[in-house]
Amino acid sequence: MNRFAYLRADDVGAAVRAVAADPSARFIAGGTNLVDLIKENVERPTRIVDITRLPLGEIGPGERGGLRIGALVKNSDLAYHPEVERRYPLLSRAILSGASAQLRNMASTGGNLMQRTRCSYFYDTTTPCNKREPGTGCAALGGFNRMHAILGASEQCIAVNPSDMSVALAALEAVVHVTGPEGDRAIAFAEFHRLPGDAPQLDTNLRQGELITAVELPALGFAEHHAYLKIRDRASYAFALVSVAAALELQGGTVTEARVALGGVAHKPWRDREAEALLVGRRVALEHFQRVADALLQGAVGRGANDFKIELARRAIVRALSHAARRTSRDDARR
Ligand SMILES: Cc1cc2nc3c(=O)[nH]c(=O)nc-3n(C[C@H](O)[C@H](O)[C@H](O)COP(=O)(O)OP(=O)(O)OC[C@H]3O[C@@H](n4cnc5c(N)ncnc54)[C@H](O)[C@@H]3O)c2cc1C
Ligand code: SF4
Repeated sequence: MNRFAYLRADDVGAAVRAVAADPSARFIAGGTNLVDLIKENVERPTRIVDITRLPLGEIGPGERGGLRIGALVKNSDLAYHPEVERRYPLLSRAILSGASAQLRNMASTGGNLMQRTRCSYFYDTTTPCNKREPGTGCAALGGFNRMHAILGASEQCIAVNPSDMSVALAALEAVVHVTGPEGDRAIAFAEFHRLPGDAPQLDTNLRQGELITAVELPALGFAEHHAYLKIRDRASYAFALVSVAAALELQGGTVTEARVALGGVAHKPWRDREAEALLVGRRVALEHFQRVADALLQGAVGRGANDFKIELARRAIVRALSHAARRTSRDDARR
């Protein structure tokens, strides 16, 4: 066990200062990911800053007619919040498809966005991994890569982002509010996570010491027409092989707005606005959904063991859009 200092922050400024001053310091919220990483010797923080006492645990109205979710709101509280169930059932469904009830009771909104990849080589400190130790190589490239990326990967890293919540937030076009040593800023969800490129050690565009304070949902929640489809090896307690958050606005059977975000296929939730635009102005029809799936997966590359994901993703997109096109009842959304 590596020794570390433990600090409990009483206000946001103190938490930010404590982490900004030390590149190997880490915030801790629910601890459901960070503690595992420390136990596996993947993360070796010198200082842990406990943020659980900060006043970031509320859900309230947002500035743009939506909802503002404090970074410390627990995943289960968020999924079952009446306004989230009523206005953003897509988010509720995505959260409830992840982890287990016990984990969701501990896990925080900010921590969920920041959870690290589940690539098994990342956790195995005896193997090369550019994300864990830049410059050592990527064991997954020639190794067991069944869970790995088919889109947006690089020769440095082919890991995927494991968060279900993030896939729904990408489709909903949420905004992440952060406070850092240089003040506050708001980050569009599409800009929050990164592709690996030649710096796979970075999962997000957060700067050193920046703390997520809230996630804001816009007014448009796609409550009538949405689907979260998660394909995985077990019916529960498993990460996505492929997941799809599909959201549609329809007027008289014609699509006026379409969003499709993919999980389990890239280093960040994957969207392609040009592909989504293919649906706008079209009647709901299987052939249009298939065109969107083809466009979204243009450029998809398998690495051997994960080749099957390309066809799996294609079918999952079509199925999720078909589900979304049918009116989604509140009872469906709760299931
Ligand atoms: C067995 C198992 C199965 C799981 N299955 C799924 C699944 O199917 N789908 C899914 O989506 N997730 C799954 N998870 C992951 C789980 O959702 C995450 O571990 C959890 O959301 C992390 O939240 P936390 O508050 O516990 O984060 P912590 O462990 O406290 O922190 C995680 C990281 O986030 C940083 N952090 C925390 N809060 C902030 C903040 N406010 N600002 C900046 N940085 C912050 C920490 O420094 C740390 O680096 C699973 C986890 C386990 C252990
Ligand atoms: S895919 Fe990424 S996380 Fe996995 S071994 Fe390669 S560099 Fe490490």
